[in-house]
Amino acid sequence: MQLILFGAPGVGKGTQAKILATRLRIPHISTGDILRDAVRNQTALGVKAHEIISRGELVPDDIMIGIINDTLNQPRCKDGFILDGFPRTLAQAKELEKLLSELKLSDVFYINLTANTEEIIKRLTNRRACKVCQNIFSLNEIEDKLKCPICSSPDSFYQRNDDNEDIIRNRLNVFNNTTQPVLDYYARKNILITVDGLGTIDDVTEHILTAIEAKLN
Ligand code: AMP
Repeated sequence: MQLILFGAPGVGKGTQAKILATRLRIPHISTGDILRDAVRNQTALGVKAHEIISRGELVPDDIMIGIINDTLNQPRCKDGFILDGFPRTLAQAKELEKLLSELKLSDVFYINLTANTEEIIKRLTNRRACKVCQNIFSLNEIEDKLKCPICSSPDSFYQRNDDNEDIIRNRLNVFNNTTQPVLDYYARKNILITVDGLGTIDDVTEHILTAIEAKLN
């Protein structure tokens, strides 16, 4: 099974993708994580992507399409995957379509998680990540914790530098101007499943799984 998860920054895509990957036993492919790894390791891609990500803008399509092409052709993706953060532009969506058809994949679910802007800004300014395991937490989950609750690394929490309010507003503009047309494209094809992203984490996971099951039956 292939899941393509959409949603504005901060809607909980990454959190849901990780949970669904474990539940469905398929790899979680996050283009944001791939880019952040490249930045950390200071590869040629990372050096190029660093400034762009810090401004809240999009890395060029040809680079992103190359990354997805390589990743989805890996053996670990042959029984399915969850895409988180791709496609974000119409050009990426068209290339993904070609790639899915080359790989003869037709069991694909397009899921759009929704939330209102103020809630998104609140969530993002309050979120912290563990620099070792990359899991995401809200401030109130880790306030009194000296170690990461998932991997137990000490002193590992940090705030992503694209999680400050000005950059968040820019990321939301980019989403509305560039990624919303991708959602409109899938909605016109009648293949977009929309799920409210504002419930508890468990509720949202269940809503996604129920929506997928309804499509399968
Ligand atoms: P994310 O973790 O998905 O919010 O991604 C963080 C940042 O990585 C984005 O704000 C973009 O700068 C970049 N990025 C991730 N995925 C893509 C993509 N598909 N196309 C272009 N840029 C991307």
